[in-house]
Amino acid sequence: MNREKIIVIDFGGQYNQLVARRVRECSVYCEIYSYKTDLEQIKAMNPKGIILTGGPNSCYEDGAPSCGKELFRLGIPVLGLCYGAQLMMLTLGGRVCKAPVREYGKIEVTVDKSSRLFGGVSEKTICWMSHNDYIETIAPGFQVIARTPACPVAAAQWEERNLYAIQFHPEVLHTQEGTKMLHNFVYHVCGCTGTWKMDTFVESGIQAIRRKVGSGKVLCALSGGVDSSVAAVMLSKAVGSQLTCVFVDHGLLRKNEGDEVEEVFGPHGPYDLNFIRVNAQERFYEKLKGVEEPEKKRKIIGGEFIRVFEEEAKKIGSVDFLVQGTIYPDVVESGLGGESAVIKSHHNVGGLPDYVDFREVIEPLRDLFKDEVRRAGLELGIPEKLVFRQPFPGPGLGIRIVGEVTPEKVVMVQEADAIYREEIARAGLDKTIGQYFAALTNMRSVGVMGDERTYDYAVALRAVNTVDFMTAETAEIPFPVLTKVMNRIINEVNGINRVFYDLTSKPPGTIEFE
Ligand code: GLN
Repeated sequence: MNREKIIVIDFGGQYNQLVARRVRECSVYCEIYSYKTDLEQIKAMNPKGIILTGGPNSCYEDGAPSCGKELFRLGIPVLGLCYGAQLMMLTLGGRVCKAPVREYGKIEVTVDKSSRLFGGVSEKTICWMSHNDYIETIAPGFQVIARTPACPVAAAQWEERNLYAIQFHPEVLHTQEGTKMLHNFVYHVCGCTGTWKMDTFVESGIQAIRRKVGSGKVLCALSGGVDSSVAAVMLSKAVGSQLTCVFVDHGLLRKNEGDEVEEVFGPHGPYDLNFIRVNAQERFYEKLKGVEEPEKKRKIIGGEFIRVFEEEAKKIGSVDFLVQGTIYPDVVESGLGGESAVIKSHHNVGGLPDYVDFREVIEPLRDLFKDEVRRAGLELGIPEKLVFRQPFPGPGLGIRIVGEVTPEKVVMVQEADAIYREEIARAGLDKTIGQYFAALTNMRSVGVMGDERTYDYAVALRAVNTVDFMTAETAEIPFPVLTKVMNRIINEVNGINRVFYDLTSKPPGTIEFE
């Protein structure tokens, strides 16, 4: 399919996924590729425009990542951002060197509003800067279109050739009119028309799946999380009863969660998924007996999950396709898309699991960012409650119980968490806090209740706000709400006599509590 698209060439900067996301928010499809990608391959993709990202290197140093002159002669519009801007200038005959003053943070930039890039942008506009080097002299043919006191070339253009260079970062939200600038580039320089819409994605995705699967059998592991739910529903719309979904209840789900998933996806729900629920609680509790170390717990739960899934798959017989809920950040972070360092190796990217006998993997969401998966979910008619679910780790409550997991502790944390969620919703805070949950600490201490001594566990309440889940800040929940939660937990949950509120940000903490 020849989709209208923009290509982001990745030089290793930290905001590169953001560049692609912002472009997609303008309804233009966008993909990330390493700067090492062959020029012929780029040409063959027939992009409407190319964006060069920032990066940690200095482009004038030996061995620094580069892209060659030809890229600027394809007749395809190019926008360089920060490192990309410097590289464009250097490659085309300008001069880049260490700046006398480095700029970092929000800085007022004066722009030339007659440039197509800055149409509709205020003449003085706050932008996010983060650089040590600067463009000392622009390349021949270029003209300066933005400046700051410390940075004489905050942006430059060669209008006839559709080449643009920006020293600051329009993709970062601190750049107040950054989205407008990217919008101007993709629409008014590249001539995009905005064909990237979730309804067409869903529709054409369903058709593509239908063509691929033919009359084959499809198997999907459904966790009830956003990604696997959206993938399953898409498959069901495409191939109906050829699909079987297996939902493993490992006994480490939130209160009532197993039933809620079954309600929506089971035989009485609106979808045709051949839903199989496996109640494997006992097996997991058995395996987790006496295990305290969090990494070990994760491995046990993951391994057992695969075994249960495999047993179910064997009952179905051989399947032709296995569905995975891989999404685009998984692809990029596994080092397959761009240049970002390999952050984590995702089991569902690249390698195929060998525990089920099948022919091929289907990854219907492989091109989507998380917010796009959610929009696709709404497009498919999946209830909002499921679509906007908080992220929940695969090992579930197994890693929200510090120390050994026992069925009694699972009940404690389930009940405490349910009360916490209920009160947050009642206070109208549920849409304002990024992620919140209760965890059971492994600490017991003395208390007194009804004149009687208690020696019970302490529960920790966690609530964070985060944009990207890489960093997080503790949410400020009003004290009266916390007090109410504390009161209810102590009164209603057996085995808990203390409630703590976790103030730790990430870093140094993590979002989870294990
Ligand atoms: N490393 C280059 C500099 O210091 C580019 C930085 C960037 O792309 N953010 O100027």
